[in-house]
Amino acid sequence: MSGDYPHALIHLDALQHNLAVVRQYAPRSRVMSVIKADGYGHGVEAVAEALHDSDAFAVARVREAVQLRELAINKPLIVLDGAATAADLITAAEYQLSLVFHHPSQLDWLSQTDLPQSLPDAWLMLETGMHRLGLRAEQFPQAYGKLTSCGVLANSPGLMSHFANSDLNDDPRNDAQMHLMADFKSRYQLPVCFANSGAVMQLPDAHHEWVRPGLMLYGASPFKDKTAAELGLRPVMELRARLLARQVLQPGEQVGYGGDWQAEKTTLMGVVSIGYGDGFNRHLSGRGEVLIHGQRAAVLGRVSMDTVCVDLENCPQAQPGDEVIIWGEKLPVEQAAIQAGTIPYELLTQINPRVKRIYRYGQS
Ligand SMILES: *Cc1c(COP(=O)(O)O)cnc(C)c1O
Repeated sequence: MSGDYPHALIHLDALQHNLAVVRQYAPRSRVMSVIKADGYGHGVEAVAEALHDSDAFAVARVREAVQLRELAINKPLIVLDGAATAADLITAAEYQLSLVFHHPSQLDWLSQTDLPQSLPDAWLMLETGMHRLGLRAEQFPQAYGKLTSCGVLANSPGLMSHFANSDLNDDPRNDAQMHLMADFKSRYQLPVCFANSGAVMQLPDAHHEWVRPGLMLYGASPFKDKTAAELGLRPVMELRARLLARQVLQPGEQVGYGGDWQAEKTTLMGVVSIGYGDGFNRHLSGRGEVLIHGQRAAVLGRVSMDTVCVDLENCPQAQPGDEVIIWGEKLPVEQAAIQAGTIPYELLTQINPRVKRIYRYGQS
């Protein structure tokens, strides 16, 4: 297996460990594991199988849920973005998907469309402060009335909302969102699903009947000031490449496209077999770091499509063929995200199919 570089080694035991951590943080809640975007880039089929202990799975789109049903997954499947067309309602009935209703149009489609069979249930998305997808407080009563009187739900709906700032500590906006939710919960007496990863770990009052974590399952921290290890999480993806070449650069020689980096002294440089054509973020040009022989090697110059150049100063013994860790347990993806000016969510979901996923339970 190890001949195929670069690859993403996916530690399925770490995924299961992180699900157990979710249950420790929220012991009284059911867990809707978020596996959208190909399981945050880890490969949804293996992720779903490893997370079989989840109470439900959530994805963003109808097509993602259909893919899971076709893999013979028969857990509740929640479609977070709901129906994008009336035809999606028919698909949801055929495949028994739990749609999120966040806009009055979706309820109009529901009353205008003949469904081949009942929908299993549904979720109403309440706007509490994210201002993205959600029914505003004044739209909610009518939406609730239409949904519960449509006669095509086999079970009663739930109430959902989404945090805009659960990654921030002591942010009053989180309290405001929770306050509004508490008000609607007491008025409508519905099961609530609110907490994403940040809220699972730091807002116990937001746990309610269901939690809805994504990122933490994959072993990354949503918080700027806390590492995954401090939170008890284990990184699931270990992204690995190979050293392709080493070069001795003379003072004045420039590296790569545009010559953005120029040697000021004699420099031992390595060329690593991963680039933006694999989804390695080009904003890591001149800023990222990788691990070779356990030592940090800084990115020199621009990231290319298939390669990236690094400084071998800390690992002068490195030779072509040696393994290079792009991120993993010893070099958190969160660090690369800060260096790239982005978030771990983006770096993980960017790794494209050119990079083989290799699945493993247990060490090495
Ligand atoms: C992606 C998503 C989640 C998961 O959020 P994490 O921060 O990854 O835990 C939860 N709810 C909704 C609506 C989402 O879009």
